[in-house]
Amino acid sequence: MTQDRDKKIKTLIKELRPELQALSEYIYEHPELGHEEVKSSKAHVELLEKHGFQVEYPYLGIETAFKAVYKGEKEGPSIAYLSEYDALPGIGHGCGHNLLGATDTGAGIVLSKRVDEIGGTVVVLGTPAEETNGDKVTMAAADTFDAVDVAFCTHPSDGYYASGTSMAMEAIEFRFYGKTAHAAAAPFEGKNALDACINFFNNVSSLRQQIHPTARVHGVIKEGGEAANVIPDYARAEFYVRAMDMPYLNKLKEKVIRCAEAGALAADCKMEWGHYEASYKNMITNETLSSLYNEKMQELGIDMITEERDSMGSMDMGNVSQVVPAINPYFEITNGKAVSAHTTEFRDCTLTEEAYQAMEKTIEALTLTATELIMDPKKLEKVKEEFDQTLK
Ligand SMILES: [Zn+2]
Ligand SMILES: [Zn+2]
Repeated sequence: MTQDRDKKIKTLIKELRPELQALSEYIYEHPELGHEEVKSSKAHVELLEKHGFQVEYPYLGIETAFKAVYKGEKEGPSIAYLSEYDALPGIGHGCGHNLLGATDTGAGIVLSKRVDEIGGTVVVLGTPAEETNGDKVTMAAADTFDAVDVAFCTHPSDGYYASGTSMAMEAIEFRFYGKTAHAAAAPFEGKNALDACINFFNNVSSLRQQIHPTARVHGVIKEGGEAANVIPDYARAEFYVRAMDMPYLNKLKEKVIRCAEAGALAADCKMEWGHYEASYKNMITNETLSSLYNEKMQELGIDMITEERDSMGSMDMGNVSQVVPAINPYFEITNGKAVSAHTTEFRDCTLTEEAYQAMEKTIEALTLTATELIMDPKKLEKVKEEFDQTLK
């Protein structure tokens, strides 16, 4: 029975592969930046509609987001797969989101061919702008996951890493206001906003020694005056503040804001702050779900690297993981070579036969994990228990 089920999934993946490969290659050829993924999102939507999904597009008022749903004939849990398709400036799909999208959308389509028989609902979400202003944040804050039981997103990488953590992050801009004056004739009449901003940077440097080694505070000055003979009346800096969890991030953020206030105070200027990009929460891997996925991978001959991949970056999947049990594992597309993401070399790995085979394996593990959760409610219960315990 189990073997039958597994064989069916394998056959479905083989049948679907040419369409997924075409999807990934089309998106590779047409790289689009965050919130400009018009062609890429449309290509996903067309494929999902062709396979019988009901699609809401645009979704939540976001032009390049979509929500595709396939409801099985039998009741059952709701499984979500999250697709990405944004590219990077200059290097196109250096993060491999062309293949990421094909993999997660592919898993959704394969599972949809099983839920009429075994029960359940499949949701595929098209989540724009992961590299900048990720809309998983918008979706996690809306009602998107209210009726969803578990959520998956898988990412191409240079190894098969189990789902790990990522840093909580806030993107904060600091605006300093002063008063212009002739820098030589009457500097005493001015208030130097750039000095306020530089004080702020120095204050952050003093703070940095006393912050937790895993936390990060880093920024740049985006505006700092126009001419050397004019006292600048405006300066603006953009910062990222990152920490391993939300409580520490909130504490650290307050300290960084005080650094800016003190910088402004010393230069007799005013300071305002606000967010310039969405804030990302830290990724909380559901370990029960992660173990189940890793087991499925092992059955397919892949040992997941379980020194978990703790990312010193931040991702919008973090927000999802704090509203629904979720995992974000990685699959290898670099054929044993150490190739970092965000490079042209990594981008081109997405076109290789090895990468497509990794996509097939990943889709298989993703759908087998979902199938097991649908058919064994006790397992899903365990996943939910862990979620309730970690996030209460
Ligand atoms: Zn990425
Ligand atoms: Zn990236």
